Amino acid sequence: MRTISGSTKLLGVLGNPVRHSLSPVIHNSALAEMGLDWCYLAMPCEPKNLEITIKALRNMNCKGLNITIPLKEKALPLCKQISSISKKISAVNTLIPNESEGWKGDNTDVAGFLAPLKNINLENKNAILLGCGGSARAVFLGLEILNIKTITVVGRNADKLNSFIKEMSININPKKLSPQVKGILEKDLNLIDYIKTSDLIINATPIGMTSNKSEIKMPLGHEIWTHLEKGTTLYDLIYTPRPTKWLENGLNMNCNVIDGLEMLIQQGAASLRLWSNFEEIPIKLMRESALNHLNS
Ligand code: NAP
Repeated sequence: MRTISGSTKLLGVLGNPVRHSLSPVIHNSALAEMGLDWCYLAMPCEPKNLEITIKALRNMNCKGLNITIPLKEKALPLCKQISSISKKISAVNTLIPNESEGWKGDNTDVAGFLAPLKNINLENKNAILLGCGGSARAVFLGLEILNIKTITVVGRNADKLNSFIKEMSININPKKLSPQVKGILEKDLNLIDYIKTSDLIINATPIGMTSNKSEIKMPLGHEIWTHLEKGTTLYDLIYTPRPTKWLENGLNMNCNVIDGLEMLIQQGAASLRLWSNFEEIPIKLMRESALNHLNS
């Protein structure tokens, strides 16, 4: 075990809740391997305290921060510099100290989301995105980068769904024919036809996460997924439980399934690259540490 001394520098994740975050596990194993005298902590932070907290951490020479639910959008205007990706999706998940005693905001969720899809050809294919919250923004941009033909966003609240579509569509190059973007409410019966014809379906809602075992559900309920076509790729951003009930059902329907663990690891590795300027990040070790922790 590493010794924490007077010269150990701090890294961490701010959010609420952060108690069950896997980020300290994956980052501290990587930091030890990289020989960096840094320590990564999960730090609970209420939205009202975010500004003062990041200012204090910057003054304490904190080497970098991850930002998670519900602070990703709130952190954006508090940064002195913002990366172009963060601007596009109005959300930051990584803060890097900048030269003027402030923070530079970046977003590694897009790269994390894309990593497990790198060997699947999704160009000109149809995708459904369940949810229109914070992580759905990164997913949407990822789908655009993949040159997806149609993105159908499913939401439960018409106002939120419409403003998500409007905001995310602003960045689409009007000269490009795709993606064609459509919003659909979860109760819309046409949803069945979209499910039958989609190549990729992403769950960016928290439905199915381990909280109370007896309450574990599937997004949109059970019945609608009987219409899944064999070979459709189901991508659940959730990684506890592994697999989720939705992915378990997908496996039974001969679908390809991807859970959120690789996204978590890849976005973490991308953040660590930004903080450390190391080219080589021990991603394999980060994955092993996460799996050991989840299986313990
Ligand atoms: P969020 O900003 O709170 O958005 C959640 C979305 O799901 C919203 O559109 C919300 O609808 C919808 N939703 C919530 N409960 C619902 C319900 N009971 N029925 C229907 N829709 C519901 O959360 P987020 O940051 O996007 O995170 C979503 C999930 O992704 C979480 O499980 C999170 O752990 C996971 N995640 C994983 C990674 C990873 O690295 N693997 C990264 C980021 C997030 P309303 O807007 O109407 O409330």
